[in-house]
Amino acid sequence: MSNIDTLFFQPAVGNQYGIVSLGFLSLSGYLRKNGIDSRIVVLVDKDMEDTVEKKICQFRPKIVCISFHWYIHAYEIVKIAGVVKKTDPNIKVVIGGHSSTYFDKQILDFTSSIDLIIKGDGEKPLLEYIISQNPQKVENISFKKNGEFVSKPVTYHQATLENLTGAHENMNEMIDEWDKYIKTKRVRTSAPIASSTIVEEVETRPSEFYLYVGKGCGFNCCFCGSSKTGNSRIFNRGVSVYRPVEDVVKDAVLLKNNGVDSLFIDFGPFSDESYFLKLFDKLSNLDLNVVYLPWNLPSNDIISKLSTSFSDFEIQISPDSGSDRLRKDLCHRGFHREFYSNDLLKKSIDKIAEVGSSRGSQLFLWFMCGLPFESEEDYLKTLKLSVSMKKNYPQLFNSAQDQLNCVPLRLTPGSPIDLWPDKFNMRKLRSSFKDYYEYCKDLISGKIEHPLGLERNDLSEAEVVKRAVHYKENILNA
Ligand code: SF4
Repeated sequence: MSNIDTLFFQPAVGNQYGIVSLGFLSLSGYLRKNGIDSRIVVLVDKDMEDTVEKKICQFRPKIVCISFHWYIHAYEIVKIAGVVKKTDPNIKVVIGGHSSTYFDKQILDFTSSIDLIIKGDGEKPLLEYIISQNPQKVENISFKKNGEFVSKPVTYHQATLENLTGAHENMNEMIDEWDKYIKTKRVRTSAPIASSTIVEEVETRPSEFYLYVGKGCGFNCCFCGSSKTGNSRIFNRGVSVYRPVEDVVKDAVLLKNNGVDSLFIDFGPFSDESYFLKLFDKLSNLDLNVVYLPWNLPSNDIISKLSTSFSDFEIQISPDSGSDRLRKDLCHRGFHREFYSNDLLKKSIDKIAEVGSSRGSQLFLWFMCGLPFESEEDYLKTLKLSVSMKKNYPQLFNSAQDQLNCVPLRLTPGSPIDLWPDKFNMRKLRSSFKDYYEYCKDLISGKIEHPLGLERNDLSEAEVVKRAVHYKENILNA
């Protein structure tokens, strides 16, 4: 087997959406274990054309991989692929991730700059392609042969995440310009809406990095493309898998040795917290901070464990609605994570305040407006709950207007709402890859025709945006 340099380009939109994807970390680690050298180049805050040209000249790769997991990169991936081909037409351009799997044929019809799309889990197919450079020998892919679209079914999926890694003893050899990447503060998430009011904008912490814990989700939130529905229909994998605790701890040690102060953990598809209790215990002697996003309501045990295992912690909880009624209804229909009442939510927050206030620990709460079946009354309950949070726990919200968020519901490809809009009384305003491409192109000019990409039959897109703006103003003034 010969070594072939492979470059991964992580797209961004200006200084946003440029966090390196977990998929790239896993792929890079997997290739390295199999003797293939690679480098991840993050294009956030950079002159894309200039950087892509320079990095190709520097590394001389035979294969370039571009992440198209998040639909927000629809415009950028086409542009990046074009620059790669212009710089060296012999380089094979491969894309992968959730959105590329979903739109495989449409993307290959749209641009000739992309040679191959890897669908579903990419580790083994990418390795096979790098070695053989023969699509016929590779599973899970789509490509064009003599102008004809060829789609091979998604037959490979990872049954286990053992022996993988999302870190390296020298992170510079995994992520290009690592020191700059890790030290630069950037926007982690934001909501592009056609309004001068920013309804969501969260920055990364200094020296924060993803800790790769697992993949997949067993929940089925109606708005989520990575839900059980989205994953099983697109990735042919409807279950979630954890990495062994010991492997994750090894990664955390490597990250700490490379200057990481804060671990970012956004995973938790089970109600059983025993995995995290064990993991946090093992991480406790590393003297690190953590940003933890549990996907359910964290128990008192896990909150206590956070406080004893980390120097400082930030916790982000997503009740999605402040209305018990609406959450119960969505759960009952099978389109939300586990139900918990507002009373239980308040008890958890009491616990966070009890163990975290004295050390300045912070809380983020994420709500949405425009959810299916949300009434005006439900929305007002969300607002009322949020205002009470700001007033009752001022110590947990250094910047309440940034930490209490009510994001307008947006369309995500492959989500239950995208697949079955009628079931949710919704109407899609975007469907094709070209629609997403145009939307992402408009993000740059700020003239976005359909910021959300969907609306309810009984609640227009503009009215949902109005709710989000109303929420932000009320939180600011509360
Ligand atoms: S918990 Fe819900 S929002 Fe989070 S990944 Fe799973 S389905 Fe998506």
